Amino acid sequence: MNPALRAPDACPALVLNADFRPLSYFPLSLWCWQDALKAVFLERVEVVAQYKTRVRSPSFEMRLPSVVSLKTYVNHARTPAFTRFNVFLRDSFTCQYCGSTARDQLTFDHVVPRSRGGRTTWENIVAACSTCNIKKGGRTADAAHMHPARKPQRPTMFELNERGRAFPPHYLHESWQDFLYWDSELEP
Ligand SMILES: [Zn+2]
Repeated sequence: MNPALRAPDACPALVLNADFRPLSYFPLSLWCWQDALKAVFLERVEVVAQYKTRVRSPSFEMRLPSVVSLKTYVNHARTPAFTRFNVFLRDSFTCQYCGSTARDQLTFDHVVPRSRGGRTTWENIVAACSTCNIKKGGRTADAAHMHPARKPQRPTMFELNERGRAFPPHYLHESWQDFLYWDSELEP
């Protein structure tokens, strides 16, 4: 599909914080074009890059923003949601027992098994490959001699975003790439 002919509904804007880093990586901070335009008119954001697609009304015509940046810095003090994806992300999609990164094999393990009163919380759930999960079975970490590589705990939004930087989304509009890859490309 020719990007020049992209329909408005296929023109989400990547939202950057005031420091020009994406507001979040997972989920990637995107606004639909209507929300992006509204923020432009309310002068809450600067337009950093634009699509070729234009929208028109009787009073104005403009190209849709592909990247916007907030004028006011938003800090990530919020606590992340306890979701399956966020647990995998915290653990870098890596089995916490053997270090396997085979994604289709990834499951969740209760460090203290449910049968022993283990709860489903940030502090007791880790990513584990199915082999390790089966091997550990209903045993505790001590009994199985299997301890998570990292002590599981609730991550901060900042930590999750840092992890997310290693897992860029599959589809990126060309003008977003600079903002997503800038840091990683600087690394030796
Ligand atoms: Zn494993």
